[in-house]
Amino acid sequence: MKKDIRALSLEDLKTVFIENGDKAFRAKQVYEWLWKKSAHSFAEMTNLSKATRDLLDTHFVINAVKVDDLQISLDRTIKSAFRLFDNNLVEGVLIPSTSRMTACISSQVGCSLTCKYCATGKLERLRNLKADEIYDQVVLIREQAEKKYNTPLTNIVYMGMGEPLLNYSNVLESIQRITSPEGLNMSPQRITVSTAGVAKMIKKLGDDQVKFNLALSLHAASDTKRNYIMPINESNSLEALTEALKYFYEKTETRVTYEYIAFRDFNDSIDDARDLVRFCKNIPCKVNIIEYNPIDNGEFQQTSSERLEAFAHFLESKNIIVNIRRSRGKDIDAACGQLANKKNMA
Ligand code: SF4
Repeated sequence: MKKDIRALSLEDLKTVFIENGDKAFRAKQVYEWLWKKSAHSFAEMTNLSKATRDLLDTHFVINAVKVDDLQISLDRTIKSAFRLFDNNLVEGVLIPSTSRMTACISSQVGCSLTCKYCATGKLERLRNLKADEIYDQVVLIREQAEKKYNTPLTNIVYMGMGEPLLNYSNVLESIQRITSPEGLNMSPQRITVSTAGVAKMIKKLGDDQVKFNLALSLHAASDTKRNYIMPINESNSLEALTEALKYFYEKTETRVTYEYIAFRDFNDSIDDARDLVRFCKNIPCKVNIIEYNPIDNGEFQQTSSERLEAFAHFLESKNIIVNIRRSRGKDIDAACGQLANKKNMA
């Protein structure tokens, strides 16, 4: 069976060439094609001899991710269904706004965490994505930004399908490649990893002194409510998360973002805002309040604009930095919590 060439390091590639009686510097050329130029076939590697390309073709494959389906929203958001080498599908989204072009990408096929408000949580978790599969999503979405909107990609959020911190090493490797000069050379400050709250791995991010941003999908600042919508809270309580976040902040000095989807009559009252303020006082943070997009057979509803505004004003009155995020791409099920491979399963 042919090996996945992108699982090899530069050193591994050098060994391959030396063992086959070729020059070690070929490795650097191939590496550059694989990562910097995102080649998806050996035929594209035009500065290599035919013999070298044939050698690679005999022993290796490039398990490139392909766009299987594309939907464009009325608000210009683009949702892609990405086909993986083993035929599985994940989704990624390009979100254009006046100031940014953001790629929202997936880290797992399905998800094991069953958050109640999320369509992905209703799919079984089939496997973790490899680092190159995460990287490919960014490359493909970046191409869409340039081709369709003539604008470079500016930001990346790990907020698509899956829990990134349960695929820790592949997620970190993908970020290392995205930020490396040998890869896409993007700033880590333009990257945000969003977690449902895996306390142990938040601490590990601190130990690894990561340079990218961390977002916590909080959605409720009381254990009772959070247990109800996010079963992960039963083993990663707000107290455990607080301890982990303090540790993360001590190690990285990076302000954490709390994502808070407002559900009508569940977490959108002033009492809920008061709980949130208490939680926010633990470390420097900011809050994104997100408009909810109901999913099929879901039990939650979108809150009213008045309640959303009142909630945000209360936080602001307590000196919390708040942004309200309106939904994007909801007509194509591309909004937050809606990714479910729906079109492709129909
Ligand atoms: S919100 Fe994220 S962690 Fe929760 S089920 Fe959906 S994809 Fe998984």
